[in-house]
Amino acid sequence: MQIGVRRRAIVVSALGLAFLLIAAAIGLALSGASGKGATSVVPRVGQDHWHARIAFYVRGAKQPNAPTWEGGVHTHGDGIIHIHPFNDFEEGRGARLVKWFEYGGGQLTADTIRWPGSQHSYTNGEPCNDFTLGVIHVYVNGDPVFDWSEYIPQDGDSIVIDFGPLP
Ligand SMILES: [Zn+2]
Ligand SMILES: [Zn+2]
Repeated sequence: MQIGVRRRAIVVSALGLAFLLIAAAIGLALSGASGKGATSVVPRVGQDHWHARIAFYVRGAKQPNAPTWEGGVHTHGDGIIHIHPFNDFEEGRGARLVKWFEYGGGQLTADTIRWPGSQHSYTNGEPCNDFTLGVIHVYVNGDPVFDWSEYIPQDGDSIVIDFGPLP
């Protein structure tokens, strides 16, 4: 009797441990799938048509929307990045935010921004006004992004880029 009870207790705790391990594994899988800031999905030719809002501010003043251009990663002058890749080079990393700038004739690097349709480049450290130096900030869904070189806009994202005083 005594032994039987102990054995049952061991079986129950083994089941409990297995349950905890499974729950932990599911938790990890879920947090990986919805991890904020991490790009978990990449757009594919002929399969995806994504939209992400984008706005650019300089010293607090909203700049005009980027003008229309064609291609699989483009915009219609509507303040929206349209991602529906037509070509292999527009898939995956080809749909990064920095590539959207490139396709539109602009530039976005770690320290320089030229908005598509504009001739003017802004570089980190240049005077922002009489008192401060300017720096590029990128926010995705309200969260700051510090390395935007690999960021692929996800369907429904809202991007705000600002060149303004530190920080
Ligand atoms: Zn579209
Ligand atoms: Zn379109």
